[in-house]
Amino acid sequence: MTIGPKQLPREIASGIYWLGDCLEQRANGKIYHTYNAAFLMVGEHSSMIIETGHPKDFPLIAKQLDTLPSNIPPVKYLFVTHQETPHAGGLGRILHRYPEAILCGDMCDYHLAFPQYAHRMKSMREGDEIDLGGRKFVVVEPVIRDLRTTWWGFDTQERVLFPGDGFAYSHYHEDGHCGLFAEEAISLDIPEVSAVFADRALFWTKFTDMRFYVDRLQYLMDKYDVKCIAPTHGLPIRDPGITLPRIKEGLLFGGSIPESGTESDAIKAAPTHKKTYINVDD
Ligand SMILES: [Zn+2]
Ligand SMILES: [Zn+2]
Repeated sequence: MTIGPKQLPREIASGIYWLGDCLEQRANGKIYHTYNAAFLMVGEHSSMIIETGHPKDFPLIAKQLDTLPSNIPPVKYLFVTHQETPHAGGLGRILHRYPEAILCGDMCDYHLAFPQYAHRMKSMREGDEIDLGGRKFVVVEPVIRDLRTTWWGFDTQERVLFPGDGFAYSHYHEDGHCGLFAEEAISLDIPEVSAVFADRALFWTKFTDMRFYVDRLQYLMDKYDVKCIAPTHGLPIRDPGITLPRIKEGLLFGGSIPESGTESDAIKAAPTHKKTYINVDD
């Protein structure tokens, strides 16, 4: 059964809300969509926003937050995986809107960009945690990182991984994938869309042996017994057992082909890999 597009916010696991909007990108003669997501993680006494969304999406994200149940505890934390615009560009607006909120993660240079908020910044690194009441947010190793300052996060209650750019891929707007989980977007060619994304955002993956990174990713998944993945740009993953092999294939494939440029046929001409997928309908 094909599932149609869904509007955000969407609760992807108990007390974890997916917020934000798609951004259109053109490559290989196609229109690709990617998310610049933010997430709200709700504890018993505090809530945390994870990633800010793209600055252009702030009015929409603010509206989405207003549609959530009114008994949600106050936003006391904002965690950003790294300093790039689609991840951190809305932080001034969020700190303004939530005067109690503390900014968390790697704090490089935020005190210079936002001196007025310098007293509301908390530097965190691997193993540091924040108790939201009934669940903790833990900073974990960022296996696939964009900047050296990147950190990933993990929710101890629903075992959700927040990997920033780590599971980065586009989706097909024409196929109605917007707002779906990766497992619902059955026509999505994850290796292909991962390669398109690697061209634009994770260029270093073309100059290293990605097999080591894929192994380390599995180590992290096993270490934390991850049940759900909430990437900033890709569709959320509800069944890592089905989708993680396709992500790994995408990382290896993206790293194995040359840069495609903006309108070349490099990705289209790459060896067919579609047949090797596990189809969720099977
Ligand atoms: Zn990114
Ligand atoms: Zn979309």
